[in-house]
Amino acid sequence: MALVPFDDRDGEIWFDGQFVPWRDAKLHVLTHGLHYASGVFEGERAYSGHIFKLREHTNRLFESARILGFEIPYTVEEIDAACIETMRRNNLTEAYIRPIAYRGSEMLAVAAQHTKIHVAIATWAWPNLFGEDRMKGVTLAMAKWRRPAPDTAPTASKAAGLYMIGTMSKHAAEAEGFNDALMLDFKGDVAEATGANAFFVFDGEVHTPTPICFLDGITRRTVMGLARQNQMKVVERTIGAEEIGRASEVFLAGTAAEVTPVRQIGDHRFTPGRITETLINDYTSLVRMTPEEVTRRAA
Ligand code: PMP
Repeated sequence: MALVPFDDRDGEIWFDGQFVPWRDAKLHVLTHGLHYASGVFEGERAYSGHIFKLREHTNRLFESARILGFEIPYTVEEIDAACIETMRRNNLTEAYIRPIAYRGSEMLAVAAQHTKIHVAIATWAWPNLFGEDRMKGVTLAMAKWRRPAPDTAPTASKAAGLYMIGTMSKHAAEAEGFNDALMLDFKGDVAEATGANAFFVFDGEVHTPTPICFLDGITRRTVMGLARQNQMKVVERTIGAEEIGRASEVFLAGTAAEVTPVRQIGDHRFTPGRITETLINDYTSLVRMTPEEVTRRAA
């Protein structure tokens, strides 16, 4: 597949309050965010021209920044409007939207109180993270890296630095021929995949790990709601690594991954079944509703 580099594309990027041509949205190599990972980001998807759960994503962006100790110099309303306008300017209606906020280059040491906070928003067409044949189910290797404890890293923040172990785990999994990795947490219990939350079906019930050291994903919460609407029992609990083989179905949930069935974790094999199928169908129709329809449905 020919890769179009991300710094050499047509279009416009919202950068510190203004639209700039895509290729001009550059930063200096002595940027604090690059050296010390003082950055947070979001991943959003638009369907039929509407960004799904936009306000929740923007709120999380602000909360992620606060956890890292900085304030985004815009209002939530301004960032929401900028996301929508970025999509419009790039003539997209089916899109992935990537806002990012990071510390600039005024100081370059661990201390960074006087750095300017920059914000950028880009958007591009990005079909499902796992591609078109994901419905057959994806394969996960067990990651060597574990999700750190909440007092070891700011695990409730969608912080750039936390993705280091994700990238290493994903690369190791791909080198072994798997699609992605399943990460355990600092205790050795099941955590999540490198960019999506994990769900397991045990005895007809939908179980998912309690998010003590990873994101309580917006898709995760949406899927739990859809499962309950279908009278499925939803259980949030500690899931031991030794339980994985007992699951009858496994699936992932995340903005980029959407709802994706899993057919293998390490040596364990699974067949996507009725529960996964129902939730995929419900999620697919929910994301295509207008924000007004979503509100009305929830009421
Ligand atoms: N965990 C990780 C590591 C992620 O990158 C994501 C995607 N943001 C998620 C979980 C799922 O979060 P959401 O459903 O809010 O996209």
